[in-house]
Amino acid sequence: MTFFTHLDCSRCGARHDRETLHNLSPCCSAPLLARYDLERVRVRREDLAGRRPDMWRYAEVMPADRPEEVVSLGEGFTPLLQAERLGETAGLRNLFIKDESSNPTGSFKARGLSAAVTRARALGAGRLAIPSAGNAAGAMSAYAAAAGLEAFVFMPKDVPEAFQVECAALGARVELVDGLITDCGRIVAERKVAQGWFDVSTLKEPYRVEGKKTMGYEVAEQMGWTLPDVIVYPTGGGTGLIGMWKAFEEMERLGWIGGRRPRMVSVQASGCAPIVRAFENGRETAEEWQGAQTMAAGLRVPRAVGDFLMLRAIRQSEGTAVAVTDEEMASALKEMGAATGLFAAPEGAAAWAGVKRLAAQGWIRADERVVLFNTGSGLKYIDALKAIW
Ligand SMILES: *Cc1c(COP(=O)(O)O)cnc(C)c1O
Repeated sequence: MTFFTHLDCSRCGARHDRETLHNLSPCCSAPLLARYDLERVRVRREDLAGRRPDMWRYAEVMPADRPEEVVSLGEGFTPLLQAERLGETAGLRNLFIKDESSNPTGSFKARGLSAAVTRARALGAGRLAIPSAGNAAGAMSAYAAAAGLEAFVFMPKDVPEAFQVECAALGARVELVDGLITDCGRIVAERKVAQGWFDVSTLKEPYRVEGKKTMGYEVAEQMGWTLPDVIVYPTGGGTGLIGMWKAFEEMERLGWIGGRRPRMVSVQASGCAPIVRAFENGRETAEEWQGAQTMAAGLRVPRAVGDFLMLRAIRQSEGTAVAVTDEEMASALKEMGAATGLFAAPEGAAAWAGVKRLAAQGWIRADERVVLFNTGSGLKYIDALKAIW
């Protein structure tokens, strides 16, 4: 089934074994990345056609040894919709939306947590803890419940109410924190040894990125094994951006795609834009953002351990990074809804606001194929949206 061999430190390249429950790399305290013996994979891309319609269809490059190990609720293989009328409003003829709102728990966090919980259970973890800005907590609660593991979630106390209710409904122990996701992360780090928790924070364990990378595989498969010219991604911790960049490299080595890459665009909220600031200042890492504020809960991430990986992917791809205001997100959300039928999360709306800006500036040209990610459902954000409309 899988050709998963080992983990590499994303900083120094040192090799680490795959049978230990790892957080950051023991050598550099950097994210660990799963590696596969891709040269031995004999599957051709055509062979995928009849496989299960979820992200585990890419079994050779996923971290599960046997199908029975997989903790799945049907995540991934989400629709790639052509958004003709929405595209026209910005003069774009080939706009596509990868609609992640149809995932279990209503966001693409399902992909990451399906992979992370699968591997954590296989390696014997019993109690999982997560600091989250919202959607990751819901997804972790769901997959922990599906796997029969205990879930402990830490969220800022001002996250949209839906997330709090959802986690409780799924049997998780919920703690609301007077602070940001970074403060939640500190609490998990402080208590985890005494509590026997395995920490499934973004990029602090190696497998959420493996789940998220499947978005890259799916975009290629759904576009007939070609990649678009531009990918626009609302960025918090950056797992999706890093994961898709990894997926493109893997697919090239598998012989499934060529060497051309999309220009990767990171969109952040102007109230919390550490990656945009670092990109504009030519930095390789991002300084922590002070006083982070935005209704797009998933973008309220003041500091990301994978900052250098995101910035590298954006630059190598000749992409860019843009910040949009909450007001722009709110009107973009209505435009998207009325022109596509999708009730987007504010994060997805931010991506559309970013596309409009870049199209107006001529950075995206009329005929280019653009894939924007609607990363979640607007239904989780009713209280935030009601407050501003
Ligand atoms: C978490 C989240 C994001 C940011 O995703 P990363 O891969 O961590 O950058 C974007 N949108 C939504 C809805 C999210 O929940």
